Amino acid sequence: MEIKKHYEEVNGYDVVVCGGGPAGVAAAIAAGRKGAKTLLLERGGCLGGFWTRGLLTWLINALEQEGLLQEVMDRLEQEAEGKRVQSPKRFIADTEKTKLVFERMCREAGVEILYHTVLSGAVKCQGRITHVLTESKSGSVAYGGKIFIDTTGDGDLGAYAGAEFDMGNGEGMTQPLSLICQLSGLDYEDMAPFDSQRSKNTKPAMLQELAKLGITPSYGGPLLAVLNREVYALMINHIHYPGTSAKGVTQATMEAREELHTIVDALRRSGGIWKNIRIATTADAIGVREGRRLHGLYTVTAEDVYAGRSFPDGICCVSGNTDIHSVKPGGAGYEQFVKGNKHPPYEIPLGCLVSRDVENLLMGGRCISGDFVAHGSYRVAGPVFRTGEVSGLLAAHCAKNNVSPQTLPKI
Ligand SMILES: Cc1cc2nc3c(=O)[nH]c(=O)nc-3n(C[C@H](O)[C@H](O)[C@H](O)COP(=O)(O)OP(=O)(O)OC[C@H]3O[C@@H](n4cnc5c(N)ncnc54)[C@H](O)[C@@H]3O)c2cc1C
Repeated sequence: MEIKKHYEEVNGYDVVVCGGGPAGVAAAIAAGRKGAKTLLLERGGCLGGFWTRGLLTWLINALEQEGLLQEVMDRLEQEAEGKRVQSPKRFIADTEKTKLVFERMCREAGVEILYHTVLSGAVKCQGRITHVLTESKSGSVAYGGKIFIDTTGDGDLGAYAGAEFDMGNGEGMTQPLSLICQLSGLDYEDMAPFDSQRSKNTKPAMLQELAKLGITPSYGGPLLAVLNREVYALMINHIHYPGTSAKGVTQATMEAREELHTIVDALRRSGGIWKNIRIATTADAIGVREGRRLHGLYTVTAEDVYAGRSFPDGICCVSGNTDIHSVKPGGAGYEQFVKGNKHPPYEIPLGCLVSRDVENLLMGGRCISGDFVAHGSYRVAGPVFRTGEVSGLLAAHCAKNNVSPQTLPKI
């Protein structure tokens, strides 16, 4: 049986950004501000990706970044109860209000946002993408443009367009998925021993509390964080399924949700400081730490990271830790892959954002070109936002001047 499908065609975009996570938001704002007619496609009902749909706790390596992120943090401070915290360096914002700020900033930049629209394919002609294929309540629609940016985190667009990619460690094993929840009913003073802002021993304290109830969580380094005095975030599960499989993501979400409710119900039944604890909400989207890493003109490697390498076309400085979570249930974390989780500051060169295989494809965020270890360091908030921003600037420049990103033009 042959199934044929008709796509409505919508043309005329300079830049089409696929995926409205932090990298996609940055790309779209940057391109829109340069005057490019920009479309931003997102499968969920808000912008922000893991920062909002995933209930992220705080932004890492954000305070140190140059460019648009500084302006975004200013706006989040003014409009989303955001806070720059200096020790340890991080940024905290209200996840709900962040959605609003991102929408405002995209609209101000003239970006056209399309929610509940799933990218499902790509049409190519002579090595270039001509259209991305989407499914939504409007049916099957193909959007045509000059430059396309993959900010799906998982590298979906690159894969649909036939670009080569790597995924996982050398054996194809990936880091676990985690479903975060927000909690209410906790007293700020009572939570001091468990709050990573106020105590250094929060993880053992939380594990001990659970051990008293006979519970060993699937993540051995649980994290409880105060977002504001009423709302707390909890990350306590490690679920091992590939993040690019619909079945895997579904199974992981259900297992993680069961575990979260089991833990929180047990804590509430134990009474004392936990007597009013409740899950206010589980995240709309389970957190996928790694998907496809699309091949670019340059691939940043572990050697670059540990050498603290800089590049003439460096566009983003990554500083901090390599954060690789165990690829096996209960197994070791980064220890088996890296020399230590601290690394000197290093740069990501522009070539990591430019597809090697598809002439008019750029990448931003988690799916840029890097190896397993390097990805473990640049996948956090600051670098994903900055690489998104630069992909947007480059896309607008290339669309306006009719040049290929593969020539690595100066922007
Ligand atoms: C459990 C976990 C905890 C983390 N904790 C921290 C932390 O504490 N601090 C920190 O700085 N970073 C943390 N991170 C890293 C975090 O992933 C990044 O900061 C950031 O979210 C990655 O940005 P991104 O835009 O590349 O991808 P994402 O945030 O994943 O955004 C991708 C977007 O694309 C959309 N999309 C995907 N596929 C499609 C499709 N086919 N069609 C349409 N839309 C699509 C998604 O819905 C999403 O909105 C954590 C990650 C995980 C998973």
